[in-house]
Amino acid sequence: MHLRLILVALAVWLLVAGIRTLRGRKRRRAEAPRRLPDSEPMVRCARCGTFVPESRAVRVHGRTYCTEAHARPGADTPPRA
Ligand SMILES: [Zn+2]
Repeated sequence: MHLRLILVALAVWLLVAGIRTLRGRKRRRAEAPRRLPDSEPMVRCARCGTFVPESRAVRVHGRTYCTEAHARPGADTPPRA
């Protein structure tokens, strides 16, 4: 009987199509969030060691700081050893 063969072929096709769809979704989900953290590099404060986004960092004499207060010489917070 040909009907049985057609049904088996249809079941196999649906299974393959379903697996391809699931794999495609997983791949897209895994790739999407990876771009966001790389978009802005983090720099370390020369005084307290806190990591801040490069655009928010304060640069003085080639060194990077997290805030204006830490960029000033002799600021309130002493440098950590
Ligand atoms: Zn700091």
